[in-house]
Amino acid sequence: MIPILDSKRQYAQIGAEVEKAVCEVLRSGSYILGPNAKAFEQEMADFIGCKYTVGLNSGTDALHLALRALDIGAGDEVITVAFTFVATTEAIGIVGAKPVFVDIDPDTFNIDASKIEAAITPKTKAIIPVHLYGQPCDMDIIMNVAKRHNLHVIEDCCQAIGALYKGKMVGTFGDFGCLSFYPTKNLGGMGDGGLIMTSDEKLRDRVIALRNHGGAIRYHHDEIGVNSRLDEVQAAILRVKLPHIKEWNEKRREHAYYYNELFKDCADIQTPKELKDTYCVYHQYTVKIPNRDEVHKMLQENGIGAMLYYPIPLHLQKVHEYLGVGKGSLPYTEKDTEMVISLPMFPELTKEEQQTVAKTLIECIAKSKSKVSV
Ligand SMILES: *Cc1c(COP(=O)(O)O)cnc(C)c1O
Repeated sequence: MIPILDSKRQYAQIGAEVEKAVCEVLRSGSYILGPNAKAFEQEMADFIGCKYTVGLNSGTDALHLALRALDIGAGDEVITVAFTFVATTEAIGIVGAKPVFVDIDPDTFNIDASKIEAAITPKTKAIIPVHLYGQPCDMDIIMNVAKRHNLHVIEDCCQAIGALYKGKMVGTFGDFGCLSFYPTKNLGGMGDGGLIMTSDEKLRDRVIALRNHGGAIRYHHDEIGVNSRLDEVQAAILRVKLPHIKEWNEKRREHAYYYNELFKDCADIQTPKELKDTYCVYHQYTVKIPNRDEVHKMLQENGIGAMLYYPIPLHLQKVHEYLGVGKGSLPYTEKDTEMVISLPMFPELTKEEQQTVAKTLIECIAKSKSKVSV
C-alpha cells in the first residue's frame, strides 16, 4: 500500500523534538496566546518576508477574518474559482458576501487571470486567487486588474506555503495571504491551525481583535469577533517543523520531476505544467487521465492511495445552488474535475514507490481503455 500521504514517516524523524516541545507547553501552564504563538508568528513573518502574521484556528478562519478585516460583507461580490476546496467560498459565505466564479486555466488549474475583468461588477470588492496544489497564480495580471478596479486581493495560500512567483513568496502580493496548518498541508500541525500574513499594520490589528472576540483589550469589545487563536501546543509543534519546510518542499519538487520523467512516454497522462518563473511546492501532484473514475477504482484496488481533488466543482454544490451558476458555465473547471487525479506525494516518498505508482497507473489506464473499447 502506498498512501497519498504518510504523516508517520515525518513523525519518525522529528517526533522526539516535537514531544519535548509539547511537554514543555504542557508543563508551562500557558496554553493560549502564550510565548510559542508569538514566537511562531515572528518566525513565519521572517520566513515569508512579510511584516506581520497572526496565528488563527484554521485556514478557513484566515480567509474569513481577512474578509472581515477588509469590511467585505452582505451585498458584496468576491471573485474566485470553483476548482478549489470549499473553505475558499465558505469564508465568502460566512461574511454574507457572494462568490463569483471565474473559470480556470486548464494548464495550471488556477484562476484564468485574463477572465477576471469580465466578471467584475459594481459590487465586486475582492479577488481570492487560490494557489492550488502548490502552484502560484499569475499574480502580475491579478494585481494589475485589482489595482485598475480598486479591488482587494486575498491570496489563498493554504496549499502553497513557500511557493514563489517571480522570486517572491505567495501571500505577499495581496492585502492578505492565508495559510492552513491542517495536518495534511506542506506545513501541518497536529490539529487545526491557520494564519494570515499581511504587511499592513491596521489590517493586522483588526485581525488580532477579530480573532479574540472583537477587542484588542481584554473585556473591551468593539465589534462581533470570533474565538480563533492558534494554541500553544500547535504553535510549539509548528516551530519544530518550520525549519524543515524548505527542504520538504524541495523534496516534493524532486518527486514531481521524477514522476514527470516516469510518465514522459505515456501520451495518456498529462503531467502538471508550471507557469513561467514560479517555484511550485507540489502540495499535490495532479495529472489528467482518461477514464478517470474507473482508473481511480483500479488504483485503490492495487494499493495506490490516489485521490480526487476535488470530485465536484463548487458551482455545482448544493450550497451554491442559489447562485444559479449551472452546468456548462465553467467549461474548463468542469472538464478538469472529471480528469484530475492526485498521486502519492510527500517528502519521504521513495523512488521505488514512485516507480510502482507510475507502473500501476500506466497499466490501469491501458486496462481501462481495453475495457471501454469492448
Ligand atoms: C485546506 C484549505 C483551506 C482551509 O484550511 P483549514 O485549515 O482546513 O480550514 C482553504 N483553502 C484551501 C485551498 C485549502 O486547501
